Amino acid sequence: MAEKTSIVNQKGGVAKTTSTHNIGVALAKIGFKVLVVDLDSQASLTYSVGIDPLSVEDKNIVSILTAKSTVDIKECIYQVKTVENLYILPSIIDLAQIELEMFARSSREKILERALLPIEDDFDFILIDCPPQLSVLTINALSCSDSVIIPVKTDELAFRGLTQLEDTIEEIKELINPKLEVIGVIATMFEKISTEDKRVLKKLEEREQVIGIIKKTVEVKKGITKGISIVEAQETNEVSLVYKKVAKKLITKSEV
Ligand code: ADP
Ligand code: MG
Repeated sequence: MAEKTSIVNQKGGVAKTTSTHNIGVALAKIGFKVLVVDLDSQASLTYSVGIDPLSVEDKNIVSILTAKSTVDIKECIYQVKTVENLYILPSIIDLAQIELEMFARSSREKILERALLPIEDDFDFILIDCPPQLSVLTINALSCSDSVIIPVKTDELAFRGLTQLEDTIEEIKELINPKLEVIGVIATMFEKISTEDKRVLKKLEEREQVIGIIKKTVEVKKGITKGISIVEAQETNEVSLVYKKVAKKLITKSEV
């Protein structure tokens, strides 16, 4: 059965999507079969792996989450062209609308878990890229996951949102999903020359298990329009090495 991991933070722009993409590529390059799930209606992950959401309009994450779904999930999964072993369950803008529908259902926390069930044995890892809210979609991701990785930007405002996120994770552990385990925090977009960044990183390290520090660099964005991650484009870049280290943490977790 696949190790399912949510990449979560209710703030936007903290590198959830970038982290999901790069950790997914790192795991796939080792030889694991990996599915990345785009759970954000902005479909950034879908774009990032080189898929135009318009081209998957009929078969995508919405097709399997909607109440009247008759679509086979296997038809909604696409191979990522640039990386062997990497697959995506893509998103489209309509995902925003089905949240209301999901909210009205009685088993609303378990909709994603049930939808993923038929393909769980087909993958070694399933990484879920969460939207920037603690919404019903994020609750669904956390409710079905074995583990969580939290990307946090090293600035004061990003740091302040952590308590609320951790409270939510605790509540889900207590009420819905006791197996959920926080693997740790990735400190993202870190700038060594900034005193604020250094101060926040120190606070993060005092409070959290920091499993990687990703520096801010334009190199991360370079291949995005071509659907290529930094782990693919520049294997030995410092950022790539950190994402590979995080991938190894996930492998260790999945083995216990
Ligand atoms: P989220 O999914 O949390 O909203 P994204 O992964 O989309 O965040 O990242 C937000 C923006 O920051 C994107 O434009 C992305 O390319 C950029 N970005 C992510 N990581 C880095 C980094 N290490 N250095 C510079 N830019 C980055
Ligand atoms: Mg995102």
